[in-house]
Amino acid sequence: MPSAAPILCDLDGVVWLMHQPIAGSVDAIKSLRNAGHRVLFVTNNSFSVVADQENALVKIGIDAHGDVVTSSQAAGVLLRKGERVLLGGGPGAVEAIKNAGAILVGRSDEHNLDGSDGHAINGDTDQEIDVVLVGYHATFDYRGLTKLSNAVRNGARLIATNDDATYPTPHGLIPGGGSILAAVAAASGVEPIIAGKPHKPMADLVGQVLRLDDLSNAWMVGDRPSTDGLFAQTVGCKFAQVLTGISSANDVSDVASTSANGDSHVFADLATFAKMIVGS
Ligand SMILES: [Mg+2]
Repeated sequence: MPSAAPILCDLDGVVWLMHQPIAGSVDAIKSLRNAGHRVLFVTNNSFSVVADQENALVKIGIDAHGDVVTSSQAAGVLLRKGERVLLGGGPGAVEAIKNAGAILVGRSDEHNLDGSDGHAINGDTDQEIDVVLVGYHATFDYRGLTKLSNAVRNGARLIATNDDATYPTPHGLIPGGGSILAAVAAASGVEPIIAGKPHKPMADLVGQVLRLDDLSNAWMVGDRPSTDGLFAQTVGCKFAQVLTGISSANDVSDVASTSANGDSHVFADLATFAKMIVGS
């Protein structure tokens, strides 16, 4: 088979909105694969474990085993074996900590999870914490913020799965992990290390998974120029912006500014993109 261009495909706002498929997206993935393209789903969704994201794709008719890369996995690459991690995040981050051989010593939302008052992990604990890992979690609150920022003040590295300020749902935008991260960074006075799109750890992970050093013939398909468009630049590939998620026709002008050095194109949706690729 000739080496068809790899397609890096965002999930939220491109394939689905909160697991509800966007019209035409399932068939679009099929036609790209039938034409010999490797499709790798690259998502900043840090909350779900990888298998759950794969299974959710299978549920809508897309076989995805081994084809999903998440921002939690990218954060896992930044963790060292044996490091002690305080987590403000979800199951996907827990999985990444485990896979990295790091140690989950506590969660900033423990007091919300089990009804205990959470004294075991707080800023004044004598537990040594090497890394504070922050991702999306709906249980985030002031007490959790205090624990996370105190640990960073006490010397822990601040690592974030991603810095998306918002997250698209069928009912509009909700605050994303980046909004939580902004609070932790402000409270601790430390610049975070960010793993997900558009940052380099995710680009390195994609290269590892695809076993390719040169992705210049690849496409990144995404709905957000400030994330997916910039990520295309980090990877060194082309950017296809679709208008089914966070961006609408009003935001198209953003592409020119965020992808000034890149090769970027706008499509109504994933189906339109696939038609162009398969037809060419
Ligand atoms: Mg998206």
